[in-house]
Amino acid sequence: MSTIAHLINGEYVNDNGRTASVYNPSTGQVVNQVALASRATVQQAIAVAQAAYPAWRNTPPAKRAQIMYRFKQLLEANKERIVALISLEHGKTLEDAGGELQRGIENIEYACSAPEILKGEYSRNVGPNIDAWSDFQPLGVVAGITPFNFPAMVPLWMYPLAIVCGNCFILKPSERDPSSTLLIAELLLEAGLPKGVMSVVHGDKEAVDALIEAPEVKALSFVGSTPIAEYIYSEGTKRGKRVQALGGAKNHAVLMPDADLDNAVSALMGAAYGSCGERCMAISVAVCVGDQIADALVQKIVPQIKALKIGAGTNSGLDMGPLVTAAARDKVKGYIDAGVEQGASLLVDGRNLIVPGNEDGFFLGGTLFDMVTPEMTIYTDEIFGPVLCIVRVNSLEDAMQLINNHEYGNGTCIFTRDGESARLFCDEIEVGMVGVNVPLPVPVAYHSFGGWKRSLFGDLHAYGPDGVRFYTKRKAITQRWPQRASHEAAQFAFPSNG
Ligand code: NAD
Repeated sequence: MSTIAHLINGEYVNDNGRTASVYNPSTGQVVNQVALASRATVQQAIAVAQAAYPAWRNTPPAKRAQIMYRFKQLLEANKERIVALISLEHGKTLEDAGGELQRGIENIEYACSAPEILKGEYSRNVGPNIDAWSDFQPLGVVAGITPFNFPAMVPLWMYPLAIVCGNCFILKPSERDPSSTLLIAELLLEAGLPKGVMSVVHGDKEAVDALIEAPEVKALSFVGSTPIAEYIYSEGTKRGKRVQALGGAKNHAVLMPDADLDNAVSALMGAAYGSCGERCMAISVAVCVGDQIADALVQKIVPQIKALKIGAGTNSGLDMGPLVTAAARDKVKGYIDAGVEQGASLLVDGRNLIVPGNEDGFFLGGTLFDMVTPEMTIYTDEIFGPVLCIVRVNSLEDAMQLINNHEYGNGTCIFTRDGESARLFCDEIEVGMVGVNVPLPVPVAYHSFGGWKRSLFGDLHAYGPDGVRFYTKRKAITQRWPQRASHEAAQFAFPSNG
């Protein structure tokens, strides 16, 4: 069995230290070991990035963008290999892995417009013979720390943009499914990126702490669970770093009495059970306005949940694969047990699913609870599994109050045919990403992604225009070229156009 090594300065580095097991969650077998970086290894990656920075920041943006064009082409040419690796170590279906890769590539396409997005702002004649402009300059060495659930897409939210903006990047991917992430980084080097500009260090808390504590690292982008996001934000900002830390979620879908139910049920099935519920934008709560729509939903959705095609993600034509680890599966099972104990009505129970031929895989079936109330842990906590909870309320205002009271505010959506309700919902809901008849309103690459409340710590969202702002600092330059032979006397009043 091979050990997945770090990629530093274009070379594979194995520091012969600690390792962690990487599983195929469909079989429950260990398929790889991954190196866990020591502080010294992280420091080595930082030194390499610092050395590469002066030349990279002075490379014309158009040349940086050309590398991204080649990178996109290489990802498209290697799509099957990448998708197979995602599915092998994460467990998601091949089709789902293909969708994640495509959304990642869209972020590279946005990064290809670097010469346009870095143009800056210019004002002529702000005073006598004075021109002024704002420049967007890179920060230096920046780092990204990413979760297991999108091993291709989430890193691609970060480094293409950081790198075209002129920064050098160190990526610390999830140690649970690092192979596809590493292959994609290799392809960026193959596309012509100078070696030290991007390094990958695998690891756990030790590697992350080394990145937080290094004064050379100017900014941290983090995506993962809320407790770690909060830790990284507070430790990073305490040291003067720029930090964007995206955390967990509990995403509600509101079903209004006038919703197109057949389409809403299809949308809910995909959004609740796709990727086994392991998406930060997964819908985990259906808020039904009135018993009539709730009863109709139950009647339509129960048979569809029971008919979910579940199996090894690496086989095609399935709806759902396994959870990522045995621990993740057991945690979700624990929540289902708690839901039953706390009095919710369990309409579909996924706990005893056996997948023939994959008996040791980390599978759970789709699960549905009705009569869920706001104090139950299946409502309050992010379960991150294939569990949908139905909460019944009496009005749109009650539904919105419920959502606004929740600690998370990542995504939400409303199913309705009524424009007035939809508009009120969009205006008043305290959530960062909102869908109207769209269950997973993940913004396209030229907008930005981010939740509110305890789903995001920091001021700027990920990728898109906010990503550019995050990975650059503004410099305002005011320049005078006096006309020859003119002399201006000293002025002691504050300069103005008054
Ligand atoms: P996680 O928080 O366990 O891990 C994320 C990263 O942090 C990994 O690289 C991991 O190695 C590192 N890490 C873990 N423990 C650490 C510690 N004690 N100190 C420092 N670093 C540590 O998250 P996960 O289980 O990999 O991913 C699932 C979570 O990510 C869910 O909560 C999900 O909602 C969230 N997520 C959020 C978004 C978003 O955009 N808001 C997107 C994807 C996933």
